[in-house]
Amino acid sequence: MSAGTAVVSGASIAGLSAAFWLRRLGWQVTVIERAPEFRDGGQNIDVRGVAREVLVRMGLFDAVKARNTTETGAVIVDGNGQAIATLPDGGGTGATAELEILRGDLAGVLRDHLPEGVEFVYGDTIEDVSEHAGHARLTTAGGRELRCDLLVIAEGVRSTTRGRVFAQDTVEERELGVTMVFGTIPRVPGDDDRWRWYNAPGGRQAHLRPDPYGTTRTILSYSPGDDLLSMSRNEALAQVRSRYRGAGWETSRILDALETSQDVYIDQLAQIRMKTWHQGHVVMLGDAAWCVTPMGGGGASLALTSAYVLAAQLSAHSGDLAAALAAYERWMRPLVRDAQNMPGWLTRFAYPQSRAGLALRHVADRVFTSAPFRPLAAKLTQVAETERTLPTLRPTTG
Ligand SMILES: Cc1cc2nc3c(=O)[nH]c(=O)nc-3n(C[C@H](O)[C@H](O)[C@H](O)COP(=O)(O)OP(=O)(O)OC[C@H]3O[C@@H](n4cnc5c(N)ncnc54)[C@H](O)[C@@H]3O)c2cc1C
Repeated sequence: MSAGTAVVSGASIAGLSAAFWLRRLGWQVTVIERAPEFRDGGQNIDVRGVAREVLVRMGLFDAVKARNTTETGAVIVDGNGQAIATLPDGGGTGATAELEILRGDLAGVLRDHLPEGVEFVYGDTIEDVSEHAGHARLTTAGGRELRCDLLVIAEGVRSTTRGRVFAQDTVEERELGVTMVFGTIPRVPGDDDRWRWYNAPGGRQAHLRPDPYGTTRTILSYSPGDDLLSMSRNEALAQVRSRYRGAGWETSRILDALETSQDVYIDQLAQIRMKTWHQGHVVMLGDAAWCVTPMGGGGASLALTSAYVLAAQLSAHSGDLAAALAAYERWMRPLVRDAQNMPGWLTRFAYPQSRAGLALRHVADRVFTSAPFRPLAAKLTQVAETERTLPTLRPTTG
């Protein structure tokens, strides 16, 4: 496909990566973002597997490494904060990856290194998409009329444009029944450079992780989850507080601090499964296409990889958009399938309800992280791994 005009909807990891590569190939790129300005929030994410090579090809490996969260390892703790099990670090491929970065920092690195000429529209969304011979036409809520050779939908798990383009029966939103609340809270002297993971009965987890800014990043995660997305922030936090009553460890401190945190992100985990990721002049990228959720892991790695693979296939199939999009999909499917195929028992194992279930889980944690099993445990954190080499990005003609 020779360089054309692209609209990218969503300015996070997938969308900014797509803008990066398409612009580098000479495309005219407009990014539309629903938020009124650049979103720099979000907590710990990691870059693994083949996405590491993508970062190298972008020339951004060092920039990402420089913003490392400073985390040195991960432990599961009991109610007194004592380590029950130490998760394998596998030399940077275990629970704490070689490249640990805050979502907003990764998005910031991508934005700051975009080639010249990418146009941004904030505070707008696509209202209508129609297919025409050789192009798509878009109308936005703000009244913009745009014509493009390619629309890239990178709007995350709750994408709205997805449903305007793809038939309902081609998109499955599989709720996992897990609620996660991410936030930034003040660091206290007991917070160290490890990821500390606590489990309480009633299917409740609490996590504390270091960041490079002198604050601490926290996650409260529980199952069965609640419908927090339909509530105001205060209502949602009150509901979480009631769920964590008597949970112990540092959960009271975390809940108190979340009340005043400037950076709270709430997610109800849902996998997205689509029969196809492309149609006409439209292609899906990142969580909007295949959200794997933090339980599957690797959302950022898949987002980074998908943008590169899309650009490489566009450059390889000059003049044939359909062939390029089909090749993109063929390349990405196995990676996504691996990340989405979680064993059916995983949620019950991760979120034990009874005290007896939790005690069993802690025995399993100890066994699984003991020397003979550590290589196996480390494998569980591997995502975006492939024996295949990345497709080559060819300079565009015309
Ligand atoms: C603010 C924020 C905080 C996050 N925090 C965490 C975290 O703490 N831990 C974690 O594991 N993952 C987090 N994530 C999700 C994580 O970024 C993704 O799983 C992964 O990086 C894949 O990124 P993505 O670009 O596909 O989707 P996302 O990162 O979800 O980005 C989607 C982007 O599209 C925009 N958007 C949504 N709808 C529309 C629309 N209709 N039109 C235009 N733009 C739209 C969103 O505002 C967002 O900028 C967060 C995402 C966001 C947006």
